[in-house]
Amino acid sequence: MNTALITGITGQDGSYLAELLLAKDYRVIGGVRDAESAAVRLSADLKNKVDLVEWKMMDQRLMIEILAEVRPAEIYNLAAYSSGAGMFDDPVGIGEVNGLAVSRILEAIRAVDMNIRFCQASSREIFGEAVESPQTESTPTNPRSPYGAAKLYADAMIRIYRQRYGLFACSAILFNHESPRRSLEFVTRKITHEAVKIKLGLTTKLHLGNLDAQRDWGFAGDYVRAMWLMLQQERPDDYVLATGKAHSVRELCDLAFAHLGLDYRDHVHEDASAYRSTEPALLVGFAAKANRELGWQPEVEFKELVQLMVDADLKILSENFEY
Ligand code: GDP
Repeated sequence: MNTALITGITGQDGSYLAELLLAKDYRVIGGVRDAESAAVRLSADLKNKVDLVEWKMMDQRLMIEILAEVRPAEIYNLAAYSSGAGMFDDPVGIGEVNGLAVSRILEAIRAVDMNIRFCQASSREIFGEAVESPQTESTPTNPRSPYGAAKLYADAMIRIYRQRYGLFACSAILFNHESPRRSLEFVTRKITHEAVKIKLGLTTKLHLGNLDAQRDWGFAGDYVRAMWLMLQQERPDDYVLATGKAHSVRELCDLAFAHLGLDYRDHVHEDASAYRSTEPALLVGFAAKANRELGWQPEVEFKELVQLMVDADLKILSENFEY
């Protein structure tokens, strides 16, 4: 039985990846900051099926001890400060956790077992103010935030360890990937959640930033499948994972409200100066390499993604409120 260590198992991607690996008969270990609070946040289903270990991103010795004890065949590093509005908050912390800690993991792998395979959740933020669109693995990087700079540093270290030590280490350059498990500060979930609240009469208005902002939004479950595929190849490499299609926040609103029989124009209030009003670069990825070499393509289309998120919020909110 293969053992996989997933950092960030309580997050959106960690939970989808854990489910995927369990279905493939892996033993799954979740590396978490605090085992007690993580156990509370894990879904009831996962709680009984995964083991948790305390994993500190700043603690090199602890990483080595855990790897020596657990002996994972694969490590997926999904623990990090997330993107969104907080990409400029705590730049030093972001540098430590999203950047330097990846070097610690690589060093721990080198110290314990060079055969451990490693997949890093990198980000489209390495392209930042992108110099071309769509972005591929060979697009020049140009981070615009401490978040993007830290992710780029991690990617560079992964390449260096691959070249110098022959480690099987890869970066998944992830474009936006969403799901009903997305937290409410991301615009996708904010919209689906609030639209459902409006439908149920729990609120009347939804305040958003720039409705013309665009993103390449895919389904998180598809993206973790690609990360697993990356570690099953003969050679390690980096891959852009994206749908290749950009959609606006306005389209998202339109689809979400329409799915509930509502017109978003009756409920959404735009304050274009809120939430990063100026974003000149179009962040859209081109995943031809992943398609060609991994046989990967996203299965959930944008419209389906929005609708499944609305349906999930409808279920959660209807169960939690009497109306
Ligand atoms: P990001 O891609 O990591 O920045 O994820 P977000 O979901 O936070 O933002 C996606 C895009 O939606 C960005 O261009 C935001 O500026 C835009 N946006 C517009 N209104 C909102 C809002 O009310 N909340 C958030 N989070 N983003 C918004």
